[in-house]
Amino acid sequence: MSNAAQKNDPAAQHARPVYVLRGVNKFYARRGVHALDDVNLTLAEGSFSSVIGASGCGKSTLLKIMAGLTPPSSGSVMLEGRPVMGPRDDIGMMFQQATLFPWRTVLENIVLPIEIRDGKKAAQAAHGRARDLLSMAGLNGFEQAYPNELSGGMAQRAAICRMLVSEPSVLLLDEPFSALDELTRDFMNMELQRICRERNATAFLVTHSIQEAVILSDVVYVMSPRPGRFVEEVVIDLPRPRTLEMMTTPQFGALVDRIRSHLDEGAFT
Ligand code: ADP
Ligand code: MG
Repeated sequence: MSNAAQKNDPAAQHARPVYVLRGVNKFYARRGVHALDDVNLTLAEGSFSSVIGASGCGKSTLLKIMAGLTPPSSGSVMLEGRPVMGPRDDIGMMFQQATLFPWRTVLENIVLPIEIRDGKKAAQAAHGRARDLLSMAGLNGFEQAYPNELSGGMAQRAAICRMLVSEPSVLLLDEPFSALDELTRDFMNMELQRICRERNATAFLVTHSIQEAVILSDVVYVMSPRPGRFVEEVVIDLPRPRTLEMMTTPQFGALVDRIRSHLDEGAFT
């Protein structure tokens, strides 16, 4: 698929393709489910893309395939020119639930990926970096707190820090803020934008909020109900950095309407 974002955005025209998916299919044989149908996707370096679709259409399956957590039934997934065969250091993932271990402090939770990969000594050495991340995420003073002492938004911010501690260049986000109240969610989305811009990270977000997809993304992919396939690719040409005020503009409203109409179409074909 030629990337429509690149046609519209002169700055993106020379952006390097980072992720390339070709003809990705997924069948869950045991339950006879055809979850994904011929998904093609190219993510340019530093871009922010979202996939939106009804519950059960295959969004999480797609993300798991991209992360190397489950193989495609057919098709190819390349990241930085190498096939994704399993979990990789250059991929950071985040889920709806923060899944912090309750018996570990915030700091210990954040360095856990390093500890699993390289052992306790390396985890200890990463404390400085973890503290920097916590301060970036506004969690100064909570290093020694336990997860049950954090609000939902704070726990998700800690989960962002844990995702970033291994310095991934690609972020795969599966409805990371959907369990939060709306105000916190808006705030977290702006934080996410800031973090991605600072690191020139390539981000791919699964969401079922049209507003969230539009405010964050360069491109929104609309997925049909099962088997999931992309039925539309909507380029979001709002200027950057995005602000919450943009959500009240006619341009924003028109983009939301356009995506909603594609979702409705998809539901009846
Ligand atoms: P979404 O994230 O869009 O809600 P999923 O990717 O989780 O959708 O699921 C897509 C379809 O695949 C659903 O019908 C779901 O029941 C099925 N599915 C997901 N994971 C598995 C699995 N491990 N085994 C069998 N079926 C699965
Ligand atoms: Mg899901």
